[in-house]
Amino acid sequence: VKVLKVKTKPEYEILIGKGIFKSIPEDMKSRFDFGKVAIITDSNVRNLYGDELKKLFEKAGVKAEIFDFPAGEQSKNTDTVVSLARRMVSSRFDRKDIVVALGGGVAGDIAGFLASIYLRGIPFVQVPTTLLAQVDSSVGGKTGVDLPEGKNLLGTFYQPLRVYIDTDFLKTLPLLELKNGLAEVVKYGCILRRTFFYYLKRLGKKFYELSEDVLTEVIFQSVKAKAWVVSRDEKESGLRRILNFGHTVGHAIETEFDYRVPHGLAVAVGMVAEARLSETFGVAEEKVADRVINLLKELELPTKISDIPGAKGKKLSEDSMVQSMLKDKKVWKGKLTIVLLKKIGKTCFYEVEDFVPVKEVLKEVV
Ligand code: ADP
Ligand code: ZN
Repeated sequence: VKVLKVKTKPEYEILIGKGIFKSIPEDMKSRFDFGKVAIITDSNVRNLYGDELKKLFEKAGVKAEIFDFPAGEQSKNTDTVVSLARRMVSSRFDRKDIVVALGGGVAGDIAGFLASIYLRGIPFVQVPTTLLAQVDSSVGGKTGVDLPEGKNLLGTFYQPLRVYIDTDFLKTLPLLELKNGLAEVVKYGCILRRTFFYYLKRLGKKFYELSEDVLTEVIFQSVKAKAWVVSRDEKESGLRRILNFGHTVGHAIETEFDYRVPHGLAVAVGMVAEARLSETFGVAEEKVADRVINLLKELELPTKISDIPGAKGKKLSEDSMVQSMLKDKKVWKGKLTIVLLKKIGKTCFYEVEDFVPVKEVLKEVV
């Protein structure tokens, strides 16, 4: 089992290993003093792992109850949070009890948000079951739900007591979901770790064999990169913004398709566009775009919008994509700051004033 420390306030540890799922109850008992556990999960993950986890807790002498919600992003709203909270109240969950967030990014966001506000906050642990949640959303303490007006508009920063990453969960994950997480893995190579970037290049399609060594290495390096960033910038004021590489254009793509394209795949194409922009704006010191494109192709990830499943058939407008980029949270005083690559593994921030090159690059990734 590999252990990584996240130096936020409070600090916590992330455990990565094959089969660690089964030892969660004993590990929690040996470290924390708590009463019951509320396992918060979605309907799919409940059937795959939730009922089993409940049994493991009971075998360890811990009372456990499952609180589930329908799988899917459309559950990420206040109604779900209120309904889960009311079910927890009627089962008399209090501050001595613990929330276990079991599932992908959606379960983690909902359970973390609920834990942060239930009785003004009760402790929680995270058990991420998708690659995206393991390498991204479970690290850094962001929680939240969507409003009809937009995504993640209500939320908190709330750190878990511990994160348990079992690589075996990925064996049941659909290929598309694996790719969704793999794009964020590529991002860490691009922004922080050149050697990891070339490790992924050598790995290529072998990733999809999901061997234990490969999964552990890929997750460990990714979590280490993200933990390093959030340990230095807990609330997204400076450094943490480098994690937005690929996301400015990625979000514009998601908006164009009303969020019906997978996030990671939109980010993959976003990274291509932003690597290309690094060259047109003259900050790149090497051929970053071709390198990013080659790696994405090796890993069978999209490099163009038309490669994204679900993105066929719609005529895209560069103008409306630029408009949605300007509506982004990251726009400050009318200026859009984007993350560009100087080299593979080295970023810089760049204030965009001229949008003509941006439109040109967008045309190239359609
Ligand atoms: P994400 O982690 O991509 O942000 P979700 O939490 O919505 O998003 O998870 C994506 C889908 O994968 C959901 O339908 C969820 O139920 C399902 N899922 C989560 N973990 C697993 C797993 N280990 N095996 C199979 N399906 C899973
Ligand atoms: Zn992302």
